[in-house]
Amino acid sequence: MTSEQPADLVLAGARIATLDAARSWATALAVRDGRIAAVGSDAAMAAHVGPSTRLIALRGRTVTPGFGDAHVHPIHGGLARLRCDLHDAYGIETYLDIVKTYARTHPGSTWIQGSGWSMEDFPGGIPSRADLDRVVPDRPVFLTSRDGHSAWVNTRALEVAGITARTVDPSDGRIDRESDGSPGGGLQEGAMTLVEPFLPETSGEDLEAALRLAQSYLHSLGITTWQDAIVTPETEEPAYVSLAGRGELTAKVVGALWWERSRGPEQIDDLVARRAATSIGRYRPTSVKLMMDGVLENHTGTLLESYLDARGQPTGNRGISMIDPAVLEIAIPRMDALGFQPHFHAIGDRATREALDAVAAMRRVNGPSDTRPHIAHIQVIHPDDIERFRELGVVANAQPYWACHEAQMDQLTIPFLGAERATWQYPFRSLLEAGAMLAMGSDWSVSTPDPLAQMELAVNRVSDRHRGASPVFLADQRIGLMDALAAFTIGVAYVNHQDRDTGSIEVGKAADLAVVDRDLFDRGAGAIGEARVVATFIDGIAVHELPELEG
Ligand SMILES: [Zn+2]
Repeated sequence: MTSEQPADLVLAGARIATLDAARSWATALAVRDGRIAAVGSDAAMAAHVGPSTRLIALRGRTVTPGFGDAHVHPIHGGLARLRCDLHDAYGIETYLDIVKTYARTHPGSTWIQGSGWSMEDFPGGIPSRADLDRVVPDRPVFLTSRDGHSAWVNTRALEVAGITARTVDPSDGRIDRESDGSPGGGLQEGAMTLVEPFLPETSGEDLEAALRLAQSYLHSLGITTWQDAIVTPETEEPAYVSLAGRGELTAKVVGALWWERSRGPEQIDDLVARRAATSIGRYRPTSVKLMMDGVLENHTGTLLESYLDARGQPTGNRGISMIDPAVLEIAIPRMDALGFQPHFHAIGDRATREALDAVAAMRRVNGPSDTRPHIAHIQVIHPDDIERFRELGVVANAQPYWACHEAQMDQLTIPFLGAERATWQYPFRSLLEAGAMLAMGSDWSVSTPDPLAQMELAVNRVSDRHRGASPVFLADQRIGLMDALAAFTIGVAYVNHQDRDTGSIEVGKAADLAVVDRDLFDRGAGAIGEARVVATFIDGIAVHELPELEG
């Protein structure tokens, strides 16, 4: 050991959750040339300290592998943060304050664009133009909701778009109206497209700025790797190629190329060509995103049995499969053979079953492979399908932040699923007990990308907005903190095909690390989601560091 060069960095006095196979603990680690050179006790690390070694005493703080996000939309999240951002706010008056301040600080913007308001803050879920007119009377305002299914606009925006009392609702949407028929300021679903052509175009520079901002924000939350859940040639792809080409992409990113539902298996040739042309630096577009269904709240998620109406009677609607299972049966085996990973979006139990069936077809045709298919969201899983995740080698890609009682769940979901199916939601413990591999992620900008906030939900299944006040959502499905941490570290590394290089703290692996401001496993230290990341390292280099790291 003395013959080795001294380490560049030594972390000591820590609670190091290594996330190795034995889930072992250590107190110190050494980093050399971007790799973990040693893991063990403080005493054992002394041999690695030389005159130029940076030695940081962590006084019992937790060190984990860098966090991952298995399903995230960083460019959308970054754009939201660049624009008028209401995501972390609640209440009409708070929203209006933010809009007013944004308008004042962006005098050159012809439009005030933003996102992140929540339906539950408005009477009947419907926002009003009059409220916005109070704070921005002179410029058009267009603000999409947190779930992206509606927009809140002011009078000026309606005028610019030519929407009046005489404008007919589009077939796929609704203009909310005042009693005299004039537009009231809410635009639902397809009605948003009446305004969108008038919005300023998002430039390539905007997209790159959004990705840069998203990356530094995600690093500040301890995130070192992610899977971008929708990469299109128009939006995400050029931004990744630009940043990765200039060496500005510090995160280790897998891109999931968007499967166009209007096309069939003939598009696979295009995907192969794009993968070859755009793999650059730390960006690898080796996954394909298949959107199987919509969401339950507006009854577009696909179910094996009908949705219920408000009186609990079957409506006959089971949602619409967005990709024909017959197409999947051809396309999935072919993509697997070409080394593409299928990344399914599946919310309803029928969507999950159709995704599992497609993987079963792929295994029948190709035998074992290492493409590591995963199904994201998995809100409702039929109990018969739980075992199939392990049997078929399908990773369960879960978004634990949604597994709680809140208005969306209690008012818009449970009544329309009925009592039995409502208990099949987000069955994380059942999946773990059945031997499934679990990876977790945020779906940011839909929800917060903070992994610690999400881990709190996985462990408690109570919203962090209602700590201590809300009942637990399906208590049997809570998982332990170590399992949640594994899903956010080695689980994401696995789904991203990076587990030989990162995802755990073991000698030889990349020094991708998150340092948390306290002992995360000490439940006397406060809620998990209140903990903060004080430093994030990628290949041993700090990509985020607060002064208190050494304070
Ligand atoms: Zn998503």
